[in-house]
Amino acid sequence: MTKRQCFPCKACCEGWLTSEEIGMTPGKPCQHCTAQGCAIYENRPKTPCQTYQCAWLVEDSDMPDDYRPDLCGAIVSLNRKWNGWSVIHAAPTGAQIPTETLEWIKSYAVKRGIPLMFQENLIQNGQFGAAKVLGFGPPDFVLAVKNAISPKDIFKL
Ligand code: SF4
Ligand code: SF4
Repeated sequence: MTKRQCFPCKACCEGWLTSEEIGMTPGKPCQHCTAQGCAIYENRPKTPCQTYQCAWLVEDSDMPDDYRPDLCGAIVSLNRKWNGWSVIHAAPTGAQIPTETLEWIKSYAVKRGIPLMFQENLIQNGQFGAAKVLGFGPPDFVLAVKNAISPKDIFKL
């Protein structure tokens, strides 16, 4: 398979993945994110910018072409660790992951036998505020996610 390129997707730089280091949150893009891509690409930070790859971008990705995050409405991250679980994480590129995309990601997680943690970005006073995190998978995992405080920084999971 030809190596995939991010552009024109800029979903993670647009803040749909929270990064405290970069100072981006849903609705608040990185200050270096432009319509043409990263304005400091050659000098972009090592973490998370050089190290992070979503599940669509990774080598030999089994996600379809049209599941590029800016097209399908979700950024899927593999091999995340949370409270002793190995999880797949999915973040919306907006308030919520579109239903059809979420159903596809759920079946993707089932096929891999890995629990899914996905989030919804809550809008408060016209702005994105806290994220609500939901679990999909074994009942004890779903309960653990339900009782958890929202993970603030997916890059650190
Ligand atoms: S979400 Fe994936 S494809 Fe889009 S810019 Fe980030 S790493 Fe690249
Ligand atoms: S520095 Fe560049 S690659 Fe890193 S988040 Fe900002 S725009 Fe994206």
